[in-house]
Amino acid sequence: MASMAKKPFGSLFLSILLASFFIASLGCAADFAPVPEPEGPPAVTVLPNPMDRGAPGRVVVTGLKPDSPIQATFDGKPIFFFPHRGDLLGFFGADVMIKVGDHPLTVTWGPGPEQRTTVTVTVKDKSYGVRDIKVPQSQVDLSPADLERTRIERIATTKALATQSPEKLWTGEFIEPVNGRINSSFGRQSRLNGVLNTRPHAGADYLVSEGTPVKAPADGIVILTGNHFFAGNSVYIDHGQGLISMYFHLSKIEAIDGQEIKKGDILGLVGKTGRVTGAHLHYGIYINGARIDPPVFRQMTATINSDESTNIPAKSQL
Ligand SMILES: [Zn+2]
Repeated sequence: MASMAKKPFGSLFLSILLASFFIASLGCAADFAPVPEPEGPPAVTVLPNPMDRGAPGRVVVTGLKPDSPIQATFDGKPIFFFPHRGDLLGFFGADVMIKVGDHPLTVTWGPGPEQRTTVTVTVKDKSYGVRDIKVPQSQVDLSPADLERTRIERIATTKALATQSPEKLWTGEFIEPVNGRINSSFGRQSRLNGVLNTRPHAGADYLVSEGTPVKAPADGIVILTGNHFFAGNSVYIDHGQGLISMYFHLSKIEAIDGQEIKKGDILGLVGKTGRVTGAHLHYGIYINGARIDPPVFRQMTATINSDESTNIPAKSQL
């Protein structure tokens, strides 16, 4: 009896509910056109997600006014933005030694009360392999003088790698610094004279003959040159917004500190200076301190920059 008594009431309720929705939807359709849509939160897209350790990523923020302040971080490192096809675009890196798993990428915006959204970025493990290298034992067990030399050099290179110029200095697609086969890929660990080195290879080694000119892959400013114990003759370029590229083991440096560099300019010649087993170019890229795979970053610039027409920095970027 109880269930029968409920039925008429249920049907009536359903009818009223449907009618209400119908009337409400008519009202919405009639009112929609003249009323401006309230500004909602921006859409934040992270690509790729999931991503490999050692890979670059990008954040696309859609729906923000150009003068709206925006800040973002990933793995404790800032992300800088620049306008791109009406959106704001920022690069970040999953350092080659980042902990595998979920990491928050946080974006804050808004001229008034700060608003925030967090995207979970999943970093996957990637096997980069191990290589065996034979070098003089004096380049593995350093003398006190060489240890002191590397300590001083590390201060200079750490400072260069921490450079975070606010403006993006480059446009278009990165080009290859040399044309040649990569004989030791990024991320690989080395067994030096039989002992595993815990530091992974933080660049890509191009097997090219000594004397081959090394070209700047994109515009930037030379922030460090020098002869270093491990890296030999080296050039570091700041491309702006925390993006730094480096070129090691050169036989000759053809750039000076502070020099403005255009894409394709010659930075030096391939050599075998520093701790090497033969002539090659070591090419590295860091994004705000994250060591990433240079060829993968080049592919990303090709993907996003095929019709890029501006490098005007956002008014209110970090
Ligand atoms: Zn290398």
